[in-house]
Amino acid sequence: MADKSILVLGAGIGGVVAAQALRKRLGRNHRIVVIDRKTKFEFAPSFLWLMMRWRTRSQVSRSLISLDGKGIAFVNGSVSKIDPANRLVIVDGEDYHYDYLIISLGADLAPEKIPGLAESAHHVYQADNAEKFGAAIQSFNECTLAFVVTSTPFKCPAAPYEATLLVDFLVRKRGVREKVDLHFFTVEPQPMPVAGPVVGGMIKQMLSERGIEYHPNQKLASVYLPSKELVFESGERAKFDLLFMVPPHRSPNVVTESGLADGAGWITVDGRTLRTKYDDVYAIGDVTAIKLPSGMMLPKAGVFAERQAHVVASNLASEITGDAEIQRWDGRGSCFIETGYGKAGYASGDFFAEPKPMVNPRRPGRIWHWTKVLFERYWLWRHF
Ligand SMILES: Cc1cc2nc3c(=O)[nH]c(=O)nc-3n(C[C@H](O)[C@H](O)[C@H](O)COP(=O)(O)OP(=O)(O)OC[C@H]3O[C@@H](n4cnc5c(N)ncnc54)[C@H](O)[C@@H]3O)c2cc1C
Repeated sequence: MADKSILVLGAGIGGVVAAQALRKRLGRNHRIVVIDRKTKFEFAPSFLWLMMRWRTRSQVSRSLISLDGKGIAFVNGSVSKIDPANRLVIVDGEDYHYDYLIISLGADLAPEKIPGLAESAHHVYQADNAEKFGAAIQSFNECTLAFVVTSTPFKCPAAPYEATLLVDFLVRKRGVREKVDLHFFTVEPQPMPVAGPVVGGMIKQMLSERGIEYHPNQKLASVYLPSKELVFESGERAKFDLLFMVPPHRSPNVVTESGLADGAGWITVDGRTLRTKYDDVYAIGDVTAIKLPSGMMLPKAGVFAERQAHVVASNLASEITGDAEIQRWDGRGSCFIETGYGKAGYASGDFFAEPKPMVNPRRPGRIWHWTKVLFERYWLWRHF
């Protein structure tokens, strides 16, 4: 068996899991290289706790350099070209050749797509932004706070609802809730549409019980800065004092230009094997576009990136070692929905189920919050 070189682009959830799962399965004669523009891994599912000041930055981040000690070569650099026809990747001007490529470059944020948004809105999609929003919500008293889901797709369908419920919890604890108006605007027809009407209905009920006004089917056109107003495509306008956004997401430019992407920029893969149109190139996680039997797209979430990473690692190792066993991803996933008061909801399901995903929601309870805490600790311990 000839020695192989496997490149993993991106050391987020999918990339870290794929590289480590491969390392476990392959002998050290095969080289595994992981490339990322950052030197630190940050566990995004904990960013909402960062916002609440229940975590510090160092508690949710780990050095990627430590991968070297696990037999994985870590390269800190920016991928500027992916050339699948020539099995070549360029990183900071340097050529990297591969036998197999796994792309896990995630999704980039593009708030600049909506005029006025970048200048006016907070978000929790990066650790430093989560900290900044966390500081902003500690200090206001009388205020209209608007949460806006600007476009789809976006990472973690539950995250904006969790952010809203947690902010509501915080302002109640601070004793200023009666002076604060909370509004949730979304381009979607219901919360988490892919999870179905029961899950959506549960979330709407939670918002309503907390006195949070929910405005579906509202597409943000711009933010008018002089009067701090949201301007929607419907023509409706809404004033705010503090603004939280789910920014538009886009595929990294290097992916859009690779020839692997669909019209929207995401990589089309076989949903079961995560293989692209090139036999030696796989893509996993947020950078992919996977159409479900229901016609909807698979949401972007770490749980999917992780499970896909295991399938790809297993199948690549089988191919390299001549093992006949081939795994197929089952489309299953789950998520927690933090609600404050030490509680979280939980939903799990089969997203490949026909004719539509089968998702089983559980009511908020302390058990799910503590399960998420244990999951976070286990995940960071297991991988770093
Ligand atoms: C607030 C928040 C809460 C969330 N909560 C949950 C949750 O509870 N459960 C869940 O399942 N998911 C959750 N998610 C979503 C989850 O974090 C993502 O879906 C997951 O990280 C996707 O993994 P990935 O490997 O595809 O991409 P990422 O983890 O985003 O990794 C992509 C990596 O690629 C690197 N990169 C990008 N472009 C380049 C380039 N050109 N050169 C070099 N490196 C590059 C980036 O630096 C990054 O490290 C949450 C996300 C957020 C923001």
